[in-house]
Parts: sequence; structure tokens; C-alpha cells
Amino acid sequence: MSYIILDLEWNASYSTRLHGFVNEIIEFGAVKLDESYQIVDTFSAMVKPKIGKRLNGTVKKLTGISLAELKSKGVGFLTAAQRFSEFLGDGTLMTWGTSDIHALLENFSYYTGDYHIPFLTTYCDLQEFCMKALDRFDEGNQMGLGACAELLELSFSEEEQHRAYADAYLSQKCLLALSDRMPLESLVLRADEEAFYERMTFKNYFITDLNSPEINKRDLRFRCDKCGKPVRRMKKWKLHNKNFSAEFRCKNCGRAFIGRVSFKRKYDGVRVNKRILEIIPKDKKKKEAPKEQAAATAS
Ligand SMILES: [Zn+2]
Repeated sequence: MSYIILDLEWNASYSTRLHGFVNEIIEFGAVKLDESYQIVDTFSAMVKPKIGKRLNGTVKKLTGISLAELKSKGVGFLTAAQRFSEFLGDGTLMTWGTSDIHALLENFSYYTGDYHIPFLTTYCDLQEFCMKALDRFDEGNQMGLGACAELLELSFSEEEQHRAYADAYLSQKCLLALSDRMPLESLVLRADEEAFYERMTFKNYFITDLNSPEINKRDLRFRCDKCGKPVRRMKKWKLHNKNFSAEFRCKNCGRAFIGRVSFKRKYDGVRVNKRILEIIPKDKKKKEAPKEQAAATAS
């Protein structure tokens, strides 16, 4: 069993055929790891751009690659992809986050008309692994590779930083540092079936219809945060900024509060977020401003 960490570089190229920009891959960089996550081989290939006529300034600065270099040393995208697939073999492909997977999909789709990555059999998102191993997994706040390395106090030599696939090396260091915290296998996905592509292209959304069959009615019930007893809803649910909220009252202790709940639909299911908020009386809201003014004049 081997693992291959892939690090792609791409350029936003304008396609006259598609009348839009394509993230055109200009370089493949990868490292191959053995079962104990040690590097046993490396791979790199430059891709001769066919879509873009020039390199975007940030890309040039970031990669240190010039268009002239790509033109003289690069091969066509499908040739580079074929060479990479030989390097990958039956190993598990790993990337930091899923943007490299999206770039591969975009390029294969551009050149073959097929929205698939033909060499993919198993895949693992290293960003997800590291965030989960660090107990910092948060869908809305993704951790950058640099931030992860910093957190783990991983040193990075000057020489390593200038390598074409520096990010692949750094990802390997993070993986190695966290490998004993949780099994990597739990996050390895089968990637040779349609479900993988559905997962990759799924767009999360908030459910804004309370009658949706995807909402579990039990998630609309609240318990008193003072005495723990079930509470009764006093007013209708209101939808505001993707959150449903309503006023609740506890029959047992008299406590009243606002229950707020949101339902985010993700590929794997619905994520429920519930909170209890204090009720701010309307008259108090209005009175607060003059009170502050009075205090200011008094002092
Ligand atoms: Zn109560």
C-alpha cells in the first residue's frame, strides 16, 4: 500500500472556446509514501499551457516558473497526467483540501469532455485528516497547510521551500506528525464510483422550509436551560438569515427564551445547529439609548 501526495500548480487561463476562465494545470508535483508515511519517491512534470497565452503574475511569483520554461520543458496535459497515473499506480491519492481535485476535474473535462479523473481509485483529503486529528475540524473555517505546520511546530528548511512540490513535502510532515492520533484509513474514500463525484461537486445549502422531509421535527424541540424540562413554543417560527427562531416558555420554572435552530444540508446529511438566546424586550431596546445619553450628561 502506498500513498501519493499531489500538489498541482495552475494558472487562470481565458478560454475562447468556453468564453470563461479555466484553472489550467501547469505543473504536477508529488511524493510517494510507504506504509509508515516515509517518502520513497518523487514526481514532477511541467505542463505546456494550451489555453492561456500568458501567466498570471501571482502564479509566476509563487511557482518561480516562466512561460518560456513551461513551453520548452512542458508536455501536454494528457501526457503529464498519464505519467502521473503510472507514478500513482494503485496507491491512494492525497491532496491538501479538495481544490486540486477540482482543478483535475476541470482539466480532464476540458481535454476529454468527460468530468472524471480516470486514474483515481482511492482518495484522502489530508486537510480534513489533519484538522480532525487536531480536533479542529470546522467546515466553515478551513485550516491552511502553513497554519497546520506552524501549529505542529514543524521546521521547514530554506532548500525545501523552493522545491517545486514543497507543499507535498510539508503535507507529508504534517501527516507524519499526526499519524498516531487517528487512523488515516477512516478518511480514505473510494473514488472510482459516481458517489465520489457527487460528493466532490455537492454544494452545501441551508434548508429554509420547515416542512422539508429532511428536517427531523425533534430538532425543533427545546429543553429549559435552567431546569432541564421540555419547554413549550409560545409563538410561530420565524426565518431570519437561514435561522429559524421562536419564543419558548418553561411551564415548570417560568423561564422564557428564544430557541434558534438552523439546518445545513451537506453531502453526508443535515447538520443541525441549536442555540438558546435571551429575549430582549422591545420597550427595553428603545429605552436603552436615552439612558446612555443621560449618563453621559451626568458625568
Ligand atoms: Zn425550566
